[in-house]
Amino acid sequence: MVRIGLTGGIGSGKTTVAKIFEVLGIPVYYADNAAKKLMNTDAALKKEIIKSFGEQSYTNGELNRKYMASVVFNDKAKLELLNSLTHPVTIRDAEEWMKKQNSPYIIKEAALLFESGANKTVDRVIGVQAPLSLRVKRTMNRDGITEDEVIKRISRQMEEEKKMSLCDFVLINNEEQLLLPQVLDLHKKFSTVKASL
Ligand code: ATP
Repeated sequence: MVRIGLTGGIGSGKTTVAKIFEVLGIPVYYADNAAKKLMNTDAALKKEIIKSFGEQSYTNGELNRKYMASVVFNDKAKLELLNSLTHPVTIRDAEEWMKKQNSPYIIKEAALLFESGANKTVDRVIGVQAPLSLRVKRTMNRDGITEDEVIKRISRQMEEEKKMSLCDFVLINNEEQLLLPQVLDLHKKFSTVKASL
């Protein structure tokens, strides 16, 4: 089974692409959602987060997302600390999930695929690229946040150009080139023998 990573900047359209693969019957692991879930369910991870961020980081056993956001989104070192606790647990969970799949290939969608080192756990990586102005517009519309807030979030991630240069395949999601045929091309490639990669 071939393992394909799927990444891209905020608002590039990773989830949109992942959903197309799902429609094609391909299993998709959503790392960001999994990480959020694991922060509430993995006892060892919870303990580590409380040790580093204090008792306020949980309310009634659930991650206090508002508190955590206020801490990590204004402090790069704290964000890196949280990621360093969460990423290994999520990578392990994804590995377990991958072992259970039975499909010619699977997709692992992760915003921070390279930053977390999860790129080492996949065979090939797809990047989704979109112009910055469009990414900002899409994210503002989707999340109901200001342009400044989106720019701030984007500035915390690896530069898109660098990220795309590390990918084996790049999908262009600029609302000029159609996305669907690009995904179908890759689906055909991945569905045939491993050697075609
Ligand atoms: P994030 O990293 O912030 O989760 P993402 O890369 O997963 O973002 P999506 O959630 O897939 O991005 O897309 C962002 C928004 O843009 C969504 O509301 C999505 O519906 C919309 N969008 C993405 N691609 C297109 C497109 N080609 N045409 C129209 N809308 C699009």
